[in-house]
Amino acid sequence: LKEIHVVGGGMAGTEATWQIAQAGVPVVLHEMRPVRKTEAHQGEGLAELVCSNSFRSDDYENNAVGLLHEEMRRMDSLIMSCAAKHMVPAGGALAVDRNDFSDEVTKRLEDHPLVTIKREEVSALPPEEWDSVIIATGPLTSESMSEVIASITGEEYLAFFDAIAPIVYKDSINFDKAWFQSRYDKVGPGGDGADYINCPMNKEQYETFIQALIDSEKTDFKEWEENTPYFEGCLPIEVMASRGVETLRFGPMKPVGLSNPHSDEEPYAVVQLRQDNKLGTIYNIVGFQTKMKYGAQMEIIRAIPGLEEAEFARLGGLHRNTFLKSPKLLDHSLRMKPMPRLRFAGQITGVEGYVESAASGLMAGRFAAAERLGKDLPAPPITTAHGALINHVTGGADAKTFQPMNVNFGIFPNIPKGPGKKLKKKDRKPLYSKRALEDLKTWLDENQ
Ligand code: FAD
Repeated sequence: LKEIHVVGGGMAGTEATWQIAQAGVPVVLHEMRPVRKTEAHQGEGLAELVCSNSFRSDDYENNAVGLLHEEMRRMDSLIMSCAAKHMVPAGGALAVDRNDFSDEVTKRLEDHPLVTIKREEVSALPPEEWDSVIIATGPLTSESMSEVIASITGEEYLAFFDAIAPIVYKDSINFDKAWFQSRYDKVGPGGDGADYINCPMNKEQYETFIQALIDSEKTDFKEWEENTPYFEGCLPIEVMASRGVETLRFGPMKPVGLSNPHSDEEPYAVVQLRQDNKLGTIYNIVGFQTKMKYGAQMEIIRAIPGLEEAEFARLGGLHRNTFLKSPKLLDHSLRMKPMPRLRFAGQITGVEGYVESAASGLMAGRFAAAERLGKDLPAPPITTAHGALINHVTGGADAKTFQPMNVNFGIFPNIPKGPGKKLKKKDRKPLYSKRALEDLKTWLDENQ
């Protein structure tokens, strides 16, 4: 069998390499370290954890990332197996000794008879004879590789920073205060004039809110992130607030073209939320990209009328992060539509986090190996954590506002409420997990 090439030996690339080799297909892994470094990696081991040593919650019955762990275990994951071997105590979280973990991943791949590791940067378009390539070069993709990708996709399809506004579960919003309406009831493509969720503020609430933004605790930029060109186009909300009390009222919080059906009082300012996935289960807060610390974000957002009980699918942030506009570019097996011999995996596809990156590598590896073996492997059902994540980045999310995403139950299809009473969120979580593991089993059985 002809080999498959994987570029980047991080969380996604190592898992993809393992899956390909375990399927009986030879694979060449190209990792540029130590020949060339990134701003964040310290060593030369594969699957280096650049910051925290945690894979987050391991509770697969109540947490979507825990469920992703469990699904990965059921699919012979290298990352999960090495994590189990080098686990350190961390309460309900799965955390590892980062050096031993990275050494273990490196050794297992070095020892695999079907794996060849080359320490080199892939800095040009992979040659035509590489007919199946997985690019997993991560959030700090080297400059030359970024240029290669942009030359295929067009500059506008590659971002170098994420600017994430907090995302809220729709069913945690209080519609006794909030309402659906598009500004001036404008009907856009696919809309009905009531596309946004609106949360009103009076003058006093607005002024208190602006002061809270100014006083809030912020996260520092890393040294190498400081001089960045993205800023004016995408200012953090707290920076806008500090420019003057009226800045937001003339920006993302303008009240014009909206009328509150719950009150005769004209809103002084309005916070708008826009649908974030096709399922309509999660909504992002428009223009609220932020560097506020997580605790401050939750407190300030829950002061917005209608969002007092808001539950967050993800909190906001701004980071250096190279990622594709995947919902437009990638097909359901993570192939790049304009050049299908290239697949993408990991953070560069717009998944966020160590585990999500490894999971997307796991899927990319399986898709590539199946293709080489002449098998047709459909994407896993979107009721599974792997399927939900892949669906989100390959079309489930809105391409126009696409930003990297952690796995969370908001990107799964809803669990039917059942006749009569509505299930509480906490009671629904184990049902998501049960359904996911059953559907994963069926998919695995059907695609041996
Ligand atoms: P990486 O793990 O970064 O792997 C990419 C690999 O590709 C690297 O080894 C790199 O050297 C190599 N490479 C790049 N270009 C080339 C090339 N042209 N040729 C050959 N090799 C190349 N997530 C969390 O869950 N928890 C955290 O605490 C966390 N902290 C983060 C901190 C920072 C500073 C950053 C940037 C990200 C952080 N993330 C975190 C997000 C993300 O989950 C990790 O970056 C994760 O490692 C992404 O996995 P990946 O496989 O896509 O990329």
